[in-house]
Amino acid sequence: DKLKSGLEKTRKGLTENIDRLVGGYAKIDEELLDDLEAILLAADIGVKTTAKLIADIKEGIKTKAITTPQEMRPFLSGRITEMLCAGSVEAPVRSPGMPYVIMVVGVNGVGKTTTIGKLGSFFAQHGQKVLFAAADTFRAAAIDQLEIWGKRSGLEVIKQAENSDPAAVAFDACQAAKARHADFLIIDTAGRLHTKSNLMEELKKVERVVAREIPSAPQEILLVLDATTGQNAINQAKLFSQVVRVSGVVLTKLDGTAKGGVVIAIKHELGLPVRWIGVGEGIDDLRPFDPVDFANALFG
Ligand code: GDP
Repeated sequence: DKLKSGLEKTRKGLTENIDRLVGGYAKIDEELLDDLEAILLAADIGVKTTAKLIADIKEGIKTKAITTPQEMRPFLSGRITEMLCAGSVEAPVRSPGMPYVIMVVGVNGVGKTTTIGKLGSFFAQHGQKVLFAAADTFRAAAIDQLEIWGKRSGLEVIKQAENSDPAAVAFDACQAAKARHADFLIIDTAGRLHTKSNLMEELKKVERVVAREIPSAPQEILLVLDATTGQNAINQAKLFSQVVRVSGVVLTKLDGTAKGGVVIAIKHELGLPVRWIGVGEGIDDLRPFDPVDFANALFG
């Protein structure tokens, strides 16, 4: 299926290398564990999370949960599934008769606009009324791009002229979403990192305006990260989390990268749940993230 084929490169890097490694050893020793560590790091699982997994394997050996090298792969698959499922995610509050607001943040180029287009299409396909807000007013191209996605799915885009105040666009969009009884309002935001402080103030202001206009909103602030950037994605997650209340991550471009292990690092190191994954450029290539399916696609 699409998930498995999208994750093919990461899967190859992990499973094929682990199998090859395990095949070369009759018993588990330090050298084998060192080689395994290198394989996990190469999949961008990250230093901290890899150290934890290796420690878990050592513990597994001690408790005889693992007795042969061959048993390491299913053990890892199980541990990674547990890591991805850890911590209860509170169901977001939705006020009756009010739109559910998703604010989407992230650095330019990560696939933010594409993700919004796909998300809108996903909800619309599920019978929901969706409105887009073009609050990345810094790039005219971003507004145009959002309109193209809107047209594709027959969704309205609330916008103003280029360089207008993003918070004003967000305010307009909240009014429109309430007036039109939209189920979802999805807000695009700017991602120009070179003028970092302004951007961060701008994002905070958008969040504040939305919170004032719609009770409990924004119910979600999704941070879009590009999987191909590996550990850079982790740094972006730290940065944005300091500014706005990031509730979850969309990991794009998982197709065509061997760095898919970053999903595990994001959850384990930052405690941020991955909510959606992008496995291609098409309108249907955004999937709700399922930890069990993901672990199976990687290790199964
Ligand atoms: P933005 O600057 O963050 O709004 O980025 P865009 O939405 O314009 O996307 C940048 C590029 O990434 C575009 O060429 C998209 O088609 C591409 N892209 C976005 N998501 C995915 C994905 O999941 N897989 C692949 N292969 N490409 C993607």
